[in-house]
Amino acid sequence: MAHLLGGIEAGGTKFVCAVGDEDGNVQARIKFPTTTPEETIAQVFAFFDQYQIEALGIGSFGPIDINPDSATYGYITDTPKLAWKNYNFLGALRDHYQIPFVWTTDVNVAAYGEYKKGAGIGKKNILYVTVGTGVGVGYISHGELYSGRSHPEGGHILMHRVEGDDFAGVCPYHGDCLEGIAAGPAVEKRTGKKGYELTPTDDCWQKEAYYLAQACMTYTLTFSPDIIIFGGGVMKQSQLFPMIRTEFLKLMNDYVRVPDLDQYIVHVALGDDAGITGSLLAAATVLA
Ligand code: ADP
Ligand code: ZN
Repeated sequence: MAHLLGGIEAGGTKFVCAVGDEDGNVQARIKFPTTTPEETIAQVFAFFDQYQIEALGIGSFGPIDINPDSATYGYITDTPKLAWKNYNFLGALRDHYQIPFVWTTDVNVAAYGEYKKGAGIGKKNILYVTVGTGVGVGYISHGELYSGRSHPEGGHILMHRVEGDDFAGVCPYHGDCLEGIAAGPAVEKRTGKKGYELTPTDDCWQKEAYYLAQACMTYTLTFSPDIIIFGGGVMKQSQLFPMIRTEFLKLMNDYVRVPDLDQYIVHVALGDDAGITGSLLAAATVLA
């Protein structure tokens, strides 16, 4: 019999909650803006209280504490969204529902969705990168979501700058890290326009491709993935893909062998549904 599972994609801007089955098929969903924890969590309960879910997969914005041995496991830790700082997100849900949970990052559930049902089907090692309001990285190694002491934060790697590019970047922590010069807000600060308002031939996309290619090089050399999958709003600029592949080829300079680049650096297959699909699929892994 099919199980009924819950999934939450908790973003800094909006929450998506869904119920569905262990194959990640969504049966009902709701979307609402992220406001205060109290108000937002009440909306989460109002949705799931209508169903008898057997497990819940949560992919949260962060940074979050994913170390089960830590006193603050399940908390959102250092977010710039101050109302959520040190909020015991998992604890609130556990108090309300006595079911198994998966607690991980929003990026990780999207990576897991692409691994099981999207562009990563059949691959063991998947590097997933989202380029949206921030840059987030999730890595699946031999079918398991990778974490060390904490989850990867590969969006904040430092960049070698394009000659003549003196844009200071917008990351409040590092200035011109990858997120600081390539996420949506950086594109906007650099050009004065939102990414989707720019033409596909705008100069800024060449820089964007170069920085994303550098990131692909770093991830390739560090993790040796089978595939690099890009999602997020900025990657809707499909002209970026051939440009990234060309820059990546130049940067790598034949140092290590990589698969055919058209199959190696690719766009998400599940589109905006990667995260919510992945949260349901993750919930399926903890079914009793
Ligand atoms: P989030 O990261 O908040 O989950 P998105 O992945 O949709 O959400 O990313 C939002 C960012 O992506 C914004 O900075 C927005 O301007 C930018 N963006 C959205 N759509 C596009 C597009 N088609 N082209 C370029 N940038 C876009
Ligand atoms: Zn940074």
